[in-house]
Amino acid sequence: MLKERVSDDIYVFTSELYAQVTAGAVVAPEGTVLIDTLAFPSETREIKDFLENRLGTRVKYLINTHYHADHTNGACYFPEAKVISHYLCRTKLDTVGRKGLAQAKVQSPELADLEIVLPDILIDSGGLYLHLGKKTLQVMHTPGHSPDSVSVLLKEDRILFAADMMMPIPHIVDGEIEDLIRSLQMVPGLGLENVIQGHGEVVLRGEIDDAIKSNLRYLDNVRKKVEQLVKKRRPREALKEITIESCGKSRIPLNGLAAQLHRANIHALYDRLTAK
Ligand SMILES: [Zn+2]
Repeated sequence: MLKERVSDDIYVFTSELYAQVTAGAVVAPEGTVLIDTLAFPSETREIKDFLENRLGTRVKYLINTHYHADHTNGACYFPEAKVISHYLCRTKLDTVGRKGLAQAKVQSPELADLEIVLPDILIDSGGLYLHLGKKTLQVMHTPGHSPDSVSVLLKEDRILFAADMMMPIPHIVDGEIEDLIRSLQMVPGLGLENVIQGHGEVVLRGEIDDAIKSNLRYLDNVRKKVEQLVKKRRPREALKEITIESCGKSRIPLNGLAAQLHRANIHALYDRLTAK
């Protein structure tokens, strides 16, 4: 796991085991807010050890940015924390999340201890403010990657934990492309210093607008290309022609996972368009 201090009391943890997934911590004398956990117990335990034994703080609140296992698997290691999420996240964790974890345990013995934790404090599209010492955290509903996705804005530091709304390549298989476009369009107006992506590297101030534009361009390309193909009644195999590069992205990020995410995106869009 990689650990990065992005501001005096704000840390980003990046997995070295799974898809460069990130988690974050906002540390205050009143307690710590943890934003997501990592996919594998060993790395979440490393975060817990760092916070409790190195910094001498406890996690008071855990924010689940969305229900996907790579972001929520470690919640059970913080039993004293109040868990905050969108209300749809709780429903999803209780259904698909529970089923998915049971299946994952069969394949990965290292997940044996994990248990689903259902969030206590639920938000809807109106969001929530959390005050912690001198810090204000604004939890905002930013759907698109998934219907329950939220982002966390640290108002004083101008840092956005964007979760999977922001990735080196957008991923819309479990969400709606139009929602993601709307969510991303809100980011440039926030005047940010850093954007913490749900996967991959921290985006710095000078790079934010370009990163957003690049993701919006990708989504636009993907939508147009799949729509054209469906209009011409081309078969599913023709999706092969829509390469990641032709949509303006490279296959290099996330250790090659980018190409796989792209394939999943175009197949999901094709399914939706042909189901109408
Ligand atoms: Zn996700």
